[in-house]
Amino acid sequence: MKTLKIAIQKSGRLNEKSVQLLKNCGLSFENYKSSLISTVSNFPLEILFLRDDDIPEYVQDGIADIGIAGENVIAETGVDVSFLQELGFGKCTLKLAVQNHSQIQKISDLEGKSIATSYPVILKKFLAENKVNSEIRTISGSVEISPGLGLSDAIFDIVSTGGTLKSNGLKPFADVMSSQAVLIGRKGIENDELVRELIQRIQSVLRARETKYVVLNIEKKNLPEIVKLLPGVKSPTVVPLAQEGWVAIHTVIEERDFWEKINSLKAVGAQGIVVMPIEKIIL
Ligand code: ATP
Ligand code: ZN
Repeated sequence: MKTLKIAIQKSGRLNEKSVQLLKNCGLSFENYKSSLISTVSNFPLEILFLRDDDIPEYVQDGIADIGIAGENVIAETGVDVSFLQELGFGKCTLKLAVQNHSQIQKISDLEGKSIATSYPVILKKFLAENKVNSEIRTISGSVEISPGLGLSDAIFDIVSTGGTLKSNGLKPFADVMSSQAVLIGRKGIENDELVRELIQRIQSVLRARETKYVVLNIEKKNLPEIVKLLPGVKSPTVVPLAQEGWVAIHTVIEERDFWEKINSLKAVGAQGIVVMPIEKIIL
């Protein structure tokens, strides 16, 4: 039987969540820090642990069938791959930033200036789209120190919280690209049975992550009100309680309207509300 190969980051910001996602998909494998390859015992899959920058090309060239990488790295390497699934972690934004006292305030002010970055491809494309000519200085790390050293007028780099910029006396002034981790595959691999099975498992894990399982007690006469608030996957489960006139409701709610829902539920008389995490939702 054919074995699929997936490439994930060996160590760094995407490693832990990538490993966790695969484990949540029910895949069993050893995650030795020292090994480059791990075999999944209960699915025909091999996991290759690589530097994140290498993953898009390895997938494009077929060394791995699929892989997990940041959209930033995929755009920078300019590969031709299929986007299979957004994964909702590794979120960051690529921003232009300048020193706090800089005269540069808008994109057109970058004309004739120098910009330090580790993302020359994305930056070049952005500048061309904005019809600005700047000098791009490609450096591989610590981009944020370059204006302070007089090496560039601006920087173009990944920002998540902005703390690093601040501590280097920099302020962001334009967002260029937002990024998250995505599952990519070699062109055409999206039709592969095993890949489809894996995507389905990933989707059921992601769906579950956005939802909570809720159990609560309510007087039977308030049932219609509650059902309006809780449509559930299909419709909520209603179970009679030993106490006459009362029922328990079991249902699923979206994490994002959690607090709002809880307050409305209390307002219509819900009691003993228990909220639990969900592992998977298979539709
Ligand atoms: P590697 O050794 O694999 O090359 P790295 O040092 O290049 O690792 P990390 O810093 O681990 O890479 O970041 C990997 C990816 O995580 C980034 O390409 C980006 O998609 C995402 N990411 C999310 N938040 C941040 C952040 N604050 N800084 C850097 N990357 C981030
Ligand atoms: Zn890297």
